[in-house]
Amino acid sequence: MEALIPLPYAQDSLEPAISAKTMGFHHGKHLAGYVANLNKAIAGTELENAPLEEIVKSAEPGTGVFNNAGQILNHNLYFSQFRPFGSPEGAKPAGLLSAAIDRDFGSFEAFKEAFVTSGTSTFGSGWVWLQADAEGALSIGKYSGADNPVVHGFRPILTFDVWEHAYYLDYQNRRTDHLVALWDVVDWMIVESRYTIV
Ligand code: MN
Repeated sequence: MEALIPLPYAQDSLEPAISAKTMGFHHGKHLAGYVANLNKAIAGTELENAPLEEIVKSAEPGTGVFNNAGQILNHNLYFSQFRPFGSPEGAKPAGLLSAAIDRDFGSFEAFKEAFVTSGTSTFGSGWVWLQADAEGALSIGKYSGADNPVVHGFRPILTFDVWEHAYYLDYQNRRTDHLVALWDVVDWMIVESRYTIV
């Protein structure tokens, strides 16, 4: 069974990038709904005690189990990668991840631009990812619905949610403005730990 992860920061601490109201609905209603749906679907089955990532990798894409498990995995990674707005800790990539971004995208600025462009051009509901292959090479992944890089053989490093529920209360149709604002709250120390700690 899965549990709703607690937010590791105050609900209003990401403002103005993400409002407390959006956080309340996104975490407290949308993610909580995926958790309740998955637990109902796997209760009493062989998946009841399976690790979340294994459920995502083994479930048939398009099924309720895949969609709810995938959305829990995606949101757990999403909500745990932010820092309070204005916090100087983790404001920029450092170390191995910074070097890999420069190597694979040319520069941090070039990476950010390519990432936002990928998020803006994702059609409909989905997620944009910074992902790593087994050798540590970085790439940008665009997946629709509840899909996740682990399904495609990549390790998830950073993700922006481009479902409308992630930004519509604050930004309405201005998805690009929302994505650009998220750079102010990404915690690059957490993101780097996903890259360097296997
Ligand atoms: Mn979402």
